Amino acid sequence: MRTSIIGMLLGAGLAFSLPISAAPPIRVMLLDGEQAGAYHAWQETTPYLKRMLDDAGIFQVDVVTAPPRDGDFSTFKPDWSKYQVVVSNYDAPDERWSDSIRSSFEQYIRNGGGFVSVHAADNAFANWKEYNLMIGVGGWRGRNEKSGPHFYYQEGKLVPDPAPGPAGSHGARNPFKVVNRVTDHPITMDLPREWLHVGDELYANLRGPGENMTVLSTASSDPANRGTGHDEPILMVIAYGKGRIFHTVMGHDLAALNCVGFMTTYQRGTEWAATGKVTEKVPRDFPLADKTSTRREYDPPPGWTSPGGRPRPPSK
Ligand code: ZN
Repeated sequence: MRTSIIGMLLGAGLAFSLPISAAPPIRVMLLDGEQAGAYHAWQETTPYLKRMLDDAGIFQVDVVTAPPRDGDFSTFKPDWSKYQVVVSNYDAPDERWSDSIRSSFEQYIRNGGGFVSVHAADNAFANWKEYNLMIGVGGWRGRNEKSGPHFYYQEGKLVPDPAPGPAGSHGARNPFKVVNRVTDHPITMDLPREWLHVGDELYANLRGPGENMTVLSTASSDPANRGTGHDEPILMVIAYGKGRIFHTVMGHDLAALNCVGFMTTYQRGTEWAATGKVTEKVPRDFPLADKTSTRREYDPPPGWTSPGGRPRPPSK
């Protein structure tokens, strides 16, 4: 009798203490697959993107891989509703998704689902109107002035430039400085105003509807490196129905992912898209205006070379 009362008390104590300390993890679907070209190796970037979320300690991540271009889509029916946010490392052409997959995804976001578009995910689905409303702007896959204006920052304002031309360009993968234009958003709050990203593709000439889009951060696209001479959007947030979207153009390959600036904004952006809040703190090794910052545990494996074929930029 006595032991059972003690047991009950201990049991009650444990039951009482556990829920207070452990908030339920944020449920994340990390979507990947397709990308026919040699440049975006989702098979090698997805494990790093997953690990960054795992390391944050607040997410529970499932990887969902879409069928290849000639694959069987009849059984591809992602259960979006199981997740608070979908992170996309997925690029595919318009014809790949059926109307029913599209409308289920639109409904999920419109009803308050979160979405994160990483790098080439903004190449996907050039003519899917609702997808382009979600990402704000995109590039390649035939996008041009009919997709919307080219958005860039000029004299402290976001400018929609309707001049005709193709959408999507970048120069060599040099380090570039990211400038935060909105410093009171949960994602950019407490970050240095300017910070240096490692060698990566600086996306430029992105076009789209740009509705309900706030550009948080930009980078100057250098004409000497095939750039536009404009301050191009790097981090964006977009509202679509009740859904929140975080769009980062950074993250071409494993070398580009190993940037504490990328990691931090990606973790914070994913948390924000899921919950509307950010609890992730800015780490002490965040890059400075003139100094990149990488982490040894995120170094690409020995002997790795970028799928683009150029030598990997030196790690600092
Ligand atoms: Zn790329």
